[in-house]
Amino acid sequence: MQHRSILFTLLACLLGVVSHAQTYSVLIKGGTVIDPKNNINQVMDVGIFEGKIRKVAKDIDPKEARQVVDAKGMYVTPGLIDIHGHVFFGTEPNHYLSNGLVALPPDGFTFRVGVTTIVDAGGAGWDSFSEFKNNVIFNSKTRVLSFLNIVGQGMRGGNWEQDTADMDPNLAAGVAIKNRNDVVGFKVAHFQGKDWKPVDNAVKAGKLANMPVMVDFGGSTPPLPLEELFMKHLRPGDIYTHAYTLLEGNIRETIVDEATQKVKPFALEARKRGIIFDVGYGGASFNYSQAIPAMKAGFYPNTISTDLHTGSMNGSMKDMLSIMSKFYNMGMDLPSVIKASTWEPAKVIHREQLGHITEGAIADVAVFSMRKGNFGFYDKTGYKVEGKEKLECELTVMGGKIVYDLNGITSPIYLTK
Ligand SMILES: [Zn+2]
Repeated sequence: MQHRSILFTLLACLLGVVSHAQTYSVLIKGGTVIDPKNNINQVMDVGIFEGKIRKVAKDIDPKEARQVVDAKGMYVTPGLIDIHGHVFFGTEPNHYLSNGLVALPPDGFTFRVGVTTIVDAGGAGWDSFSEFKNNVIFNSKTRVLSFLNIVGQGMRGGNWEQDTADMDPNLAAGVAIKNRNDVVGFKVAHFQGKDWKPVDNAVKAGKLANMPVMVDFGGSTPPLPLEELFMKHLRPGDIYTHAYTLLEGNIRETIVDEATQKVKPFALEARKRGIIFDVGYGGASFNYSQAIPAMKAGFYPNTISTDLHTGSMNGSMKDMLSIMSKFYNMGMDLPSVIKASTWEPAKVIHREQLGHITEGAIADVAVFSMRKGNFGFYDKTGYKVEGKEKLECELTVMGGKIVYDLNGITSPIYLTK
């Protein structure tokens, strides 16, 4: 008996020592924390334990942490949330963004730019969602969510996306409700024609599942009126993506009048009504001729997102940080840029547990430095804005684990596979 109690005492001591040394698994020290949800913009330390934010305070003792990140001179923000990406990658020829070669594997393109959550915007529909879930959602380290396409086969390209008979709100809502942890809303996209049915069926699905709808407004000649889309067909909380695009051939209306360079009054009204304006930068969906006058008028995007795919990332889009740097160089202040990439998107997709560094929250954190130099930010038309500053991702933490460290600012460095 005595033998056993000594053993217990010994064990208790050991546990005591271990738990003391590990008040924090990771401590991010000395960075400027920008956490828009909590109105924080000052130098703070962030202590992480068991996957959660344990403490945000000044001068946390580094001895209490297993790993310490030296973030002096850097920005510490919530992990970024990209609500418009294309990550239903696969090897099916001619499948475009639905299990095809134009979509990208999320983990290769997220952590390196501070993104911890990415929403696939319509790659999968109700008919292909299980494949997306099994192949991509289950097998990615990045938190992958879905705007389910109103088209059964999702973004398979060509005629697959033009068949209004395949845009079934009941089947789409059924799959969304059954997969509430993964599906955050519905997507309508790429439809060419003068027909409201794709939008209306997506909104029907949205009503059935109580989820928002993201609209890529496709095109038609003459274009369907945007005012009618915002004021009559969409609901407050629904998302207009590709907000700053001017498409060739006048097939889609714009939010800025190109002649007067003024934001159209109905766009201002739509914002008041609660329509969400998302960047969805993409390959062809961002023009400075729209964005600069909009920014001058204070018409900032609610959410910044990439429309990531092989075309956009090798075009002028690059990545999330490149777009954030563009908006920063157009005059949007840094806290607003961070808010549009963290807390705002979290609210838009109804994932309020994400996008902030509140004590007790999931520990998704990004650390950035602001590089100084001469940088060129161009758009698809070749128009270039020059800038002296650009965000660079130094470190990414996902669920309390360091998943990316550009320059080895963690001590000690533990390499994980
Ligand atoms: Zn897209």
